[in-house]
Amino acid sequence: MIRENLTDVERRIKEACLRCGREPSSVRLIAVSKTKPAEMIQEAIAAGILDFGENKPQELRDKYDILPKNLRWHMIGNLQRNKVKYVVGRAVMIHSLGSDELAESIEKEAEKKDLIMPVLAEVNMAGESSKSGLTPEETEAFLRRVSSMKHLKVKGLMTIAPMTEFPEENRVYFRELRNLAVDIARKNIDNVDMYELSMGMTGDFEVAIEEGATMVRVGTGIFGARNYGAL
Ligand SMILES: *Cc1c(COP(=O)(O)O)cnc(C)c1O
Repeated sequence: MIRENLTDVERRIKEACLRCGREPSSVRLIAVSKTKPAEMIQEAIAAGILDFGENKPQELRDKYDILPKNLRWHMIGNLQRNKVKYVVGRAVMIHSLGSDELAESIEKEAEKKDLIMPVLAEVNMAGESSKSGLTPEETEAFLRRVSSMKHLKVKGLMTIAPMTEFPEENRVYFRELRNLAVDIARKNIDNVDMYELSMGMTGDFEVAIEEGATMVRVGTGIFGARNYGAL
């Protein structure tokens, strides 16, 4: 089941790349394994996946600790300052950096562990009040402040588009995120790269790829529907 789903998602990624003249290798598929047990992750590993996304710090920690150490864990969810310690040293990237306070906590923890933490700034492109993240307008100034933090390395931007049945409705947000990244890249801010664009989920990853996503975060399309109630 997981293997078939992966084959299908990978085919759709490839087709989206071909439609817009991109190399399929320029898009990294992150399998969002939140709420899913280690056995299902093992199935995905057997099918060739190494990148996994989690949105709860303790869950990321627990899975990191019991699964093979060559996996790449991505923190994609809301991160509270007191839980940064579970993530720094385990995740290869934090996609959800959206406040100065969180940046300072990550900086401190990374300094303590003597490592450099790759991060993405999360931007709330649709201005949804239910979602966290920076406004597009404040993102550049935020990145200028973060750029002085020696143990953070900004790699790009991330957005979570609105839930919709119609992926085309989200194209504008993906395009605007890309434009924002291009604008910021032109400013040549020290210690700030704008290479990565983490955007697109099960419902809209093809549109996101057409608009330049370098990382897509797909959960349901690989592991099936999530059952939060059972946890
Ligand atoms: C859960 C989640 C995803 C995956 O969502 P699906 O619709 O299941 O693909 C992607 N990104 C973030 C930030 C998430 O929390």
